[in-house]
Amino acid sequence: MVDINKIVRENVLRLTPYSCARDEFQGSTGVFMDANENPYGSLNRYPDPYQKELKAAVARFRGIAVENIFLGNGSDEIIDLCFRIFCSPGIDSALTFTPTYGMYEVSASVNDVKVIRIPLNGNFQIDITQTEQFLSDKNLKLIFICSPNNPTSNSMNHSDVEYLISKFNGIIVIDEAYIDFSEQPSFVKLLGKYPNLIIMQTFSKALGMAAARVGIAFSTPEIIHYFNKVKPPYNMSTINQIAALKKLGKPEVYRTQVLKIKTERDRLAGKLKKIKSIEKVFSSDSNFLLVRVKDANSIYNALIDRNIVVRNRNSVIENCIRITVGKPNENNKLISALKSIAI
Ligand code: PMP
Repeated sequence: MVDINKIVRENVLRLTPYSCARDEFQGSTGVFMDANENPYGSLNRYPDPYQKELKAAVARFRGIAVENIFLGNGSDEIIDLCFRIFCSPGIDSALTFTPTYGMYEVSASVNDVKVIRIPLNGNFQIDITQTEQFLSDKNLKLIFICSPNNPTSNSMNHSDVEYLISKFNGIIVIDEAYIDFSEQPSFVKLLGKYPNLIIMQTFSKALGMAAARVGIAFSTPEIIHYFNKVKPPYNMSTINQIAALKKLGKPEVYRTQVLKIKTERDRLAGKLKKIKSIEKVFSSDSNFLLVRVKDANSIYNALIDRNIVVRNRNSVIENCIRITVGKPNENNKLISALKSIAI
């Protein structure tokens, strides 16, 4: 059985967290003379440090208990907190399956943590044999699995992922930023089964709130406790909490948009497959398409000249571009532009 206290950094185990004024008094009415705020105005008070109302709404939305939820200033804050909680700078390491979301590596560098990169196999799946040799390394503390993966757009094989979780004595972080567009179920069903699992989701994709910076971590109450211990006291603004709450109050908007985006994704994929300069459109479980073209740099630049911005992924997968599914008229513009580019 994995003992989480043995994975957490010594200094985090010992640290006394910042105790903010709002930790000591929970009520919402009263005479507040404890936090050196300005008594006038509407945004004059510090936000709820534990986002209780929003967490209750997320709990209802995803069917997960409040004690299993941590909210961050985007998933990017959660990624950074994982390094700060579990990895000693200059000593510990993290493992990623490449190509994948770039922030795991950036956060690792910021925290002076070494990264072990295992290339995904030809089907963009985890190479279990190559990975297994690293699982017993006592300095390997974190494994990041992005499913569906950015930029390859596919989901990871569930039995491979569960095998790794069961064999690893460190923490497995599964990044489900794109889960709402996937045909695969979420890994949250494994939360009760394994003590070393963190599942990240976000308001930035299907919920359409990238500007609000709201990331979610689902985990055990023990791991959530460490997130709360290390986070800045007021890590999510009141404005963002209110905006996210409002969004969850209209689940039908989210459902309709996800359906629309998935329909457009499949229509766009069909159209792209017929364009001469496009060699392959990879099957997608997310809200973007990975496309292999004849010459990614030229196509990327030609699209920029036409005021269309896609992501050139040539540096990580040869001659590939990543296209986020837009509104129907935006997708049509992209299709016409690609047809007009002679490569
Ligand atoms: N995870 C993945 C896989 C992503 O692609 C992104 C953003 N592109 C994020 C996390 C960042 O999410 P957030 O906006 O919640 O920080």
